[in-house]
Amino acid sequence: MYRTHNCGELSRKDIGKEVILSGWIQKIRNLGSLFFIDIRDYFGVTQLIFSKKSVNKNFFLGKEFLIKVKGKVIERFSKNYNIPTGEIEISVSHIDLLNSSLSPPFTIENKTDGNEEIRMLYRYLDIRRDPIKNNLILRHNLALETRNFLSKNGFLEIETPVLINYTPEGARSFVVPSRTHINKFYTLAQSPQLFKQLLMIGGIDKYFQIVKCFRDEDSRSDRQIEFTQIDCEMSFVEVHDVLTFFEHFIKHIFKIIKNIQLDPFPCISYYDAIKMYGTDSPDIRFDIPFVELNDLVQKQDINLLKIQELVIGIKIKKCYNIHENDKMNCFLKKIENKNFFWIKYLYDRTLLYSDQNFLNKEIIKIFIKYFEANPGDLLFFSYGKKRKTREEFGKIRLKIADFLNLRNSKIFKPLWIKDLPLLEWEEKSKKYKSVHHPFTSPKEEDIHLLEKHPKKIRSKSYDLIINGIEIGSGSIRIHNKNVQNLIFKHLGLSKKEIESRFGFFVKAFEYGIPPHGGIAFGLDRLINILEGNQNIKNFIAFPKNNYGKDIMINAPSFLEKEKLKELHLR
Ligand code: ASP
Repeated sequence: MYRTHNCGELSRKDIGKEVILSGWIQKIRNLGSLFFIDIRDYFGVTQLIFSKKSVNKNFFLGKEFLIKVKGKVIERFSKNYNIPTGEIEISVSHIDLLNSSLSPPFTIENKTDGNEEIRMLYRYLDIRRDPIKNNLILRHNLALETRNFLSKNGFLEIETPVLINYTPEGARSFVVPSRTHINKFYTLAQSPQLFKQLLMIGGIDKYFQIVKCFRDEDSRSDRQIEFTQIDCEMSFVEVHDVLTFFEHFIKHIFKIIKNIQLDPFPCISYYDAIKMYGTDSPDIRFDIPFVELNDLVQKQDINLLKIQELVIGIKIKKCYNIHENDKMNCFLKKIENKNFFWIKYLYDRTLLYSDQNFLNKEIIKIFIKYFEANPGDLLFFSYGKKRKTREEFGKIRLKIADFLNLRNSKIFKPLWIKDLPLLEWEEKSKKYKSVHHPFTSPKEEDIHLLEKHPKKIRSKSYDLIINGIEIGSGSIRIHNKNVQNLIFKHLGLSKKEIESRFGFFVKAFEYGIPPHGGIAFGLDRLINILEGNQNIKNFIAFPKNNYGKDIMINAPSFLEKEKLKELHLR
């Protein structure tokens, strides 16, 4: 028998019991005739005490050695109320060595000295630490809750193939050579998109799948080339139905996992998001939208500003560190550029402002009045070409919020962005490409713009943004053969290409395709945001590094000549 109890469960009520525990040695304190050892297993840490005399130990012990001990639960002299076993210890009478260990390459405790690289290289040791282990438990709970919730609501979990042909998510696909079909290749699914739509054609009313997806994209610290989606699809729905249901789902997850009751999610159009926040994934934990000032600067005849395509400003109310002169000035210097200015309205009513020729006291007063600013308020402004100004000011808005500590990771502010553009122009290929994917339905009222103003067509698509991060995205799909063909045509696909890539799919359109739509949430991202947006790798058991490498197993790697030959690659 390896154990009567685990290392996390013994407490004061067990004093006097004879027990057997097994675990890894986390710490050894040698006090001469007495030894203290902390042993750890999946469940926790227990302190052992034994005297050299009472234990016939004829072997050396070190960190991470795996031992089995027999002993009596006794009350601990100096108690540790921070852990459940902190009031007791085991007075050991017998010890067995189950396995020895090399000295670990980093400290295997909650606080570690190991950098990311070394922890990735020895990920199995990193998983012994509570922070990583607890994240995996959390991930398990989230997946379980998702399955239960969706199943209860009539969704059926169905697996779709991974080795497929082409997937239309807009990223590059990973390619898998076929051994048995000479010169032919599979690609790894970027998402189950077409299959989930085919399931709707197959009469499955609601589908979901917690599924691995593969996208051959360049390295980014918040992205993995293989990642997990909560992928969903529903029949006979419109945008409103999908948003209502999945708002309910996300609220449920936050309640169960974090015990947080989320407020109703605001829903704004893509156009408004860009206009108000300069980005399609706004962080609204600090709801400070842009105020457009073109009319004001025209009316007030403010020289340099009245000739600008766009003038925008924001007001930060009651700014507690408005007086922190050194830090604040240093920050303002950092974000300063020539199309940007600021006004500080100090608590003693002094007005300070950027050093720019076109500004004077009169102009400053106009802005103070317009924004109804009070002492303690900060005003920031930007001007120039519409698109660039919005984009840059959107980034500055975030920097300001960071500086002022307005992005509290314990606060969650989800919002829906809808009506994203259907198509965007790609300069490289000189073609239009889908903003979401080619099966996304245009808004009926915009279809007439297809010939003359394709960029202006809005789609029936939506993104879920939480704290400025895209957590989910989806759309209502096209369920009309003619519209689908029209979109393919505008994406520059020839009849031959449509046939070879999507022939099977277009054929399915002939058999009574129901109206349908869906969404996919990034599971890794969702957990990461629930836990305060740390690092996505902390929530994946065996993640790739920022360059798409698994440094533990050394993947990707070269293949031997023989293998290449077998795959017809040489
Ligand atoms: N397939 C889409 C994606 O992976 C999600 C969807 O449209 O449901 O982003």
